[in-house]
Amino acid sequence: MPYQSVNPATGEFIGSFQEAGDTELDAKIKTAADCYVSWSRGLFAVRALVAHKAAALLRHRTDDFARPVTLEMGKLIAESRAEVLLSADILEYYARNAEQFLNPQKLHPQIGEAEVQSSPIGVLFGVQPWNFPYYQLARFAGPNLMAGNVVMVKHAGCVPQCALAFENLWLEAGAPLGAYTNLFLSYKQVDRVIGDPRIRGVALTGSAGAGKSVAAAAGANLKKSTMELGGSDAFIVLEDADLEMAVKWAVWAKMNNTGQCCVAAKRFIVVNELADEFLEKFGAALASLRPGDPMDEETTLGPLSTEAALVQLMDQVKRAISAGATLVLGGGRIARPGSFMQPTILTGISSSNPAFREEFFGPVALFFPVQDEAAAIALANDSDFGLGGSVFTADIERGKRVAAQIETGMVFINHPTWTTPELPFGGIKDSGYGRELSSMGIQEFVNKKLVRVAPLHAAA
Ligand code: NAP
Repeated sequence: MPYQSVNPATGEFIGSFQEAGDTELDAKIKTAADCYVSWSRGLFAVRALVAHKAAALLRHRTDDFARPVTLEMGKLIAESRAEVLLSADILEYYARNAEQFLNPQKLHPQIGEAEVQSSPIGVLFGVQPWNFPYYQLARFAGPNLMAGNVVMVKHAGCVPQCALAFENLWLEAGAPLGAYTNLFLSYKQVDRVIGDPRIRGVALTGSAGAGKSVAAAAGANLKKSTMELGGSDAFIVLEDADLEMAVKWAVWAKMNNTGQCCVAAKRFIVVNELADEFLEKFGAALASLRPGDPMDEETTLGPLSTEAALVQLMDQVKRAISAGATLVLGGGRIARPGSFMQPTILTGISSSNPAFREEFFGPVALFFPVQDEAAAIALANDSDFGLGGSVFTADIERGKRVAAQIETGMVFINHPTWTTPELPFGGIKDSGYGRELSSMGIQEFVNKKLVRVAPLHAAA
């Protein structure tokens, strides 16, 4: 895939970036592997200094980091700044806590002593998406660098300036060459990197299709992998919910990052008592968003990340309608330069409609009125995905009972699914496997080594 900066708000081509040749690629893997030897032997405190410095740079130059995000993939500038600060939070979180998370764990065998030590495993390879161009990198690099691994990253083709900015960040923070390496690679080279014996683990965040390809290559080479894939999160509103708050959060859950979040609410499942009123208020709020330059603070509706993403999503909506869905709002392109789509609501999506099982990655909401709580849970679980989801109810205990029955990796009560450094992130089913963030994320790529002290004359 080409590495190109194109401003999706205007269609303006900004520049392209050369893919690495195989010789350059091999040299970079060698640098990373050499760096691992010293980086992994260093103290946590030394690595923490670098991670703290990287976080401080993100905080001090928030706008410098935010602008390329908005420029290359169209995120509203306020959201880009928030992403830069969230990335700083993640780096600081692991700088502060990594040593404690990886402390040896004492075991209690019948005789003698034993403990499980956590040690780094080597060079890790990450394949990352464009929708959160720094946050995705921070949640891969932060924990793994603090654990003593080194990381190499193939970022998405449409955010090359962000990819380079994040690599430079680590160098400026004092990381040695090879600790964090950006790679502009073809898909064929992705497989080549995964097959390289110096690479010890593979992490992908992206679509299920990319996940299948990268996980297959990792499996064929016996490499541990984590897969953070797509989702079709349910946003359940029960009859006792606070309707105003539910609508307010529904708009955020659908439109944050112009709907291009793995955990964006994609299926709005509302109990009949509230369904009509919810739909009316939700539709009115979506219709009132103001498209414009995402660099402008007044804009509330940005473009999609690329023209190709817009064309694909509009086609998906068209196919859903021809298979029987009803268009309640939007559905088309906005008549202005750039790749803007009208906020869209579809309803009447039967289980035989292919749209029922698809992920809509953008400002498209699928709306489902249902009879009651049981029907809401059954519909939420009738999905190939299992990433996040949310339940709105006045009764928190009821919300917890519902959450316990939802088959996903994350459920939020009275809030859309979202992320902070200390909460684990990940899914089940076609949404992938493994967890990022929290104390769990740092455990994915470490060797859990048993060290046993047995009495010399113990029976075998
Ligand atoms: P994507 O097309 O799968 O791309 C993700 C990354 O994988 C990009 O770097 C892409 O490179 C690369 N890639 C794609 N196919 C590949 C292949 N066959 N071999 C090697 N590399 C490959 O996904 P996207 O459109 O960028 O992102 C949206 C998807 O990511 C959605 O499904 C979303 O739900 C999911 N996502 C999940 C999470 C999570 O944590 N679960 C977070 C964010 C996004 P190119 O750009 O060069 O094609």
